[in-house]
Amino acid sequence: MTTESPLDTARSQLRSAVEKLSLSESMWNTLSTPRRILEVAVPLRRDSGVVEMYKGYRVQYSTTRGPSKGGIRFHPDIDLDETVALAMLMTWKCALVNLPYGGAKGGVAVDPRTLSSRENERLTRRYTSEILPIIGPERDIPAPDVGTDEKNMAWMMDTYSVNAGFSVPGVVTGKPIVLGGSLGRTTATGDGVAISTREALLDRGLPVAGATVAIQGFGKVGYWTAVAVEAMGMKVVAVSDVTGGVKDFGSIADLQSHMAAGGDISDYAKGEKITNEELLHLDVDVLIPAALADAINHESAVGIKAKIVVEGANAPTTPEGDRIMSEKGITVVPDILANSGGVIVSYFEWVQDKQNYFWSADQIRENLESMMLKAFAEVRHVVKENRVSWRDAAMMIGVGRVAEAHKLRGLYP
Ligand code: NAD
Repeated sequence: MTTESPLDTARSQLRSAVEKLSLSESMWNTLSTPRRILEVAVPLRRDSGVVEMYKGYRVQYSTTRGPSKGGIRFHPDIDLDETVALAMLMTWKCALVNLPYGGAKGGVAVDPRTLSSRENERLTRRYTSEILPIIGPERDIPAPDVGTDEKNMAWMMDTYSVNAGFSVPGVVTGKPIVLGGSLGRTTATGDGVAISTREALLDRGLPVAGATVAIQGFGKVGYWTAVAVEAMGMKVVAVSDVTGGVKDFGSIADLQSHMAAGGDISDYAKGEKITNEELLHLDVDVLIPAALADAINHESAVGIKAKIVVEGANAPTTPEGDRIMSEKGITVVPDILANSGGVIVSYFEWVQDKQNYFWSADQIRENLESMMLKAFAEVRHVVKENRVSWRDAAMMIGVGRVAEAHKLRGLYP
C-alpha cells in the first residue's frame, strides 16, 4: 500500500474532476501547474544571539479569477510539495464558493512552540519582507493557518505598511479588529464547519439535536467548531490535540480554560484519555478531522464508525481513505466546502478594508450562512444529478469555474 503525499492526493482529486468534466489534456496541463513559487531563506536571531536559518515558501497556485489568497503556516514539517497542494486546494475552494480569488499558501518550516514571542515576531517580519515583492491587496492576500494567528497577521500588516509608507490593512486577513479585522473572522471556519455538519445531518435524515461529534485537533478550527456545533444542539463527546485525546470530559468551556492557561489535552484531568487514533474510531454520528493532512488514510479509515465525516482540516483524507469510507457508505463533506467559512469571512474582511466601511456581526453571520448554504445546495445538486461523491461534486464545480475562467481569458500571447 502506497502512502500518498498531500500533493499526490490533490493531483488525484484534480485528475478525477478533469475527467468527470471531460476537460482537455491542455486544460489538465494548465490546471495542474502552479503559477508562481517563491522559496526564501528566513534568518532568525534567537534571543540568545545565535542566528538560525529557516526555509519559507509562498506559492501562488492561481490568479486566474483574482488575486491569490491563502494561509501562512508555521509548522516544522511543511515543505514545498505540501504548500503547493494546499495552494491548489485554496484555488478550487475560492472558486467553489465563488469568491473573486485565485489560490495561494505559504509558510515557514519552524515549530512556533519553540519560539519566544519576540522571536516569533522577528521571524514573521523577516518572512514577510522576503515575500513582500509578490504580496499585496491586489496581488496575494495571506491569512492565518496552522501555527499562526492574528498576532502574526498584525506583524505582517505592519511590516508591509512600513515598507509601503502608509497603512495597508487589506494586505492580510485574520487581523485584530482594531487593525481592520472583521467581526466573526475568528469563529468563521468553525461556524462554517458547523453549518456543513448540520446540513450533512439533515441531508442524511439524521437529527441535529443530540448528534454526537468527535473532533481531532483543538486549535482555531477545532475549538470554534466545537463551540458552534454545541450551540446548534449537538454534543461533542471527544476532542484531541497533538498530545492526545480525551472523551466524556466536562465541558468545552472548561477544557478551553485549561488550554488557555497553557495546558495540553494530555494533561487535562477530567474525562477519559484516548489516543488520536482511538478518537477517529469512536462510535459517533460525526467525525471532524480539524488538525493536519493525511489523518484519514488506508489504515485509519478502516476503523471509522461515524456516519458523516466533515473535513475541518485541509486535505485530511487520502484517496485510499476516501475509497474505504465510500465503501462503508460514509458521507464525506470535503474540505473545500466544509472549511470554506474561513476564506468567506476573510473575503468580507478584505472587502470591508477596501471600502473602509465595517459590517455588523449580524451582517457577517447572515452573509456567511447564505454563501455556505448556496455552495452546499450547488454541491448537493451535482451529487444527485451525477451520482458522484460530495468531494467529486465540489471539485467539479470549483475546477469547472477555474477552467471556464481560463477559457474566457484566453492564452497570452
Ligand atoms: P491550529 O494551529 O490553530 O490548530 C491545529 C490543532 O491541531 C492543534 O490543536 C494541534 O495540537 C493539533 N494537531 C497538530 N498535529 C496533530 C496531530 N498529529 N494529531 C492530532 N492533532 C494535531 O490550526 P488551525 O488553524 O486550527 O488549522 C487546522 C486545520 O484546518 C489545518 O488543516 C488548516 O489548514 C485548516 N484550516 C484552517 C483555517 C483557519 O481559518 N485557521 C481555515 C480553513 C482550513
